[in-house]
Amino acid sequence: MDDPEVPYLKTSAYEWTARAFEMLEAGTLTAAVFATDGIVSTRVEGPCPRCTHHLGDRQTASAVSSLLPDERGLGDATATGNVVQIDVTCACGEPHAGAPEATQSCGVSFRIELEVDGTA
Ligand SMILES: [Zn+2]
Ligand SMILES: [Zn+2]
Repeated sequence: MDDPEVPYLKTSAYEWTARAFEMLEAGTLTAAVFATDGIVSTRVEGPCPRCTHHLGDRQTASAVSSLLPDERGLGDATATGNVVQIDVTCACGEPHAGAPEATQSCGVSFRIELEVDGTA
């Protein structure tokens, strides 16, 4: 089991965000967001865009509305299309060549945008 195909590289290059987006579109990678009492929980699961090992990521953010300052100045907080951005770092749990000790990740970070559907 000592055959890491992808060497460790700490990167947040946009190509991985783009790849993650494509994988989401294709349904290879799944992402879900839950909003409950102003707490937003996100869950990302599927193959890492870089090393393709399985990863599962859970994050919690608070208060969706506060993530979105009202750029128009006035207006209420009922605007549709609340979007939450999350930064996911690979935590595949698999060894990669060159990874720092106790790090089991290929080192990639990517960003996912999720729409918060308040009616779900
Ligand atoms: Zn990996
Ligand atoms: Zn990875």
